[in-house]
Amino acid sequence: MERSYGEVLAFGGQLAMSEELPVCSGAEASLRALMRGNAAYLDHSRNPAELTDRIRVTTAHEGQHPIAAVVCCADSRVPPEHIFSAGIGELFVIRNAGAVMSASALASVEYAAAHLHVPLVLVMGHRGCGAVAAALQKHREPGALGALIAQVKVGVGHARNPREAERNNLIHSLEALGESEVLRDLADRGKLGFAGAIYDIRSGAVELLISE
Ligand SMILES: [Zn+2]
Repeated sequence: MERSYGEVLAFGGQLAMSEELPVCSGAEASLRALMRGNAAYLDHSRNPAELTDRIRVTTAHEGQHPIAAVVCCADSRVPPEHIFSAGIGELFVIRNAGAVMSASALASVEYAAAHLHVPLVLVMGHRGCGAVAAALQKHREPGALGALIAQVKVGVGHARNPREAERNNLIHSLEALGESEVLRDLADRGKLGFAGAIYDIRSGAVELLISE
């Protein structure tokens, strides 16, 4: 798996920054830990991570040191802490319908990377995404939701089926990370890596994105 994590990060870096990035060993370690967590989740369907009073007290006093920033959909069937068997203080999670890289989402990723020093940004789409399904339809939602779906539509592009649309939308969100000079600088210095993934809401498996 070591080699494939490298491939996932190389592909994620290419999408996010449009260039080959130096190897970030921290990102590889985080990715390994996340996938180990997903394997435990598939095995037990419960979270074996620390969710105790002790860890609350420790992190309240000593601050947070998450291993990754995870950008994903707000869908209630896509809870990152459960999916990766993560405990208190382990994941810096940014969620909205469709996992859109909005200005506030990008700013939150910058905070996690620049101030909390997460070595990995994982953008995770999922199967059966309602926001992506809405973007494939002609019907227009009113209000702020309509504006959000319009952003998902841009991500979906010319895709005609949900699978392709989910992949396109995920890639679009990864590409939007490249707009950040803060992230680019950290990535260029080998301190930050990027990866994409699709979560299967039925099986519980996380599929890491590699080039087709
Ligand atoms: Zn969704």
